[in-house]
Amino acid sequence: MNVTGARRGRRLALVEKLKARGIQAPRLLAAFGQVPRHLFVEEALADQAYEDCSLPLGEKQTISQPSMVALMLSLLAVKPTDRVLEIGTGSGYQTALLGHLADQVYSMERIAALARPASRRLREMGLTNVHVKTFDGTYGWRDRAPFQGIIVTAGAPKIPRTLAEQLAEGGRMVVPVGEPGTQVLKRIFRDGTGFRVEDHGTCQFVPLIGRFGWEESGGR
Ligand code: SAH
Repeated sequence: MNVTGARRGRRLALVEKLKARGIQAPRLLAAFGQVPRHLFVEEALADQAYEDCSLPLGEKQTISQPSMVALMLSLLAVKPTDRVLEIGTGSGYQTALLGHLADQVYSMERIAALARPASRRLREMGLTNVHVKTFDGTYGWRDRAPFQGIIVTAGAPKIPRTLAEQLAEGGRMVVPVGEPGTQVLKRIFRDGTGFRVEDHGTCQFVPLIGRFGWEESGGR
């Protein structure tokens, strides 16, 4: 089998693994089957791209573990008509999945050396509905708000109020909240009367650094 065929095989095996872990949404599983994760990691790590593990992506940041991405995206419950805000583009892998699931995706990354290649990769894949901006995502993206979904892929000290305010009515936000080393995955719903918060287990993300996150010195 050639390299492309072998990678496709491994990608489909990853989809089966996600199914075995309880991920059911057909559109989500289809997106995992379509997005070539090996193109989002350094070439030397491409052979590990379909293992269920996080990998270094440079600038002291990591591309999240596929099963964690799957859990977060299933909690976000993206509809094809949704406008979604993502904080922490990183490699752009989750951004690409969102591009398959949502109508429009707005993604913010504070490190330009990550945002630029991620944006280029997404463009080369023909994902014209994703928009990447280099900026502190804790401010949100006010002139594109409100969002039906907001997903934060870095650990926040508390639920970022500025982001919650950019949720549409009926919108969901998924965000890890806690200490720099360990957080609780939270889902926040906004309805007509206010916000409702659920806990979904512990997780470990790199710190969310910015005006409404951690201070620069506490993180990188
Ligand atoms: N979803 C990414 C995960 C990247 S790790 C992937 O799968 O590749 C988290 C990312 O959040 C890092 O790239 C980090 O630079 C970024 N980040 C941290 N604080 C941020 C902020 N305030 N605004 C935007 N991005 C931020």
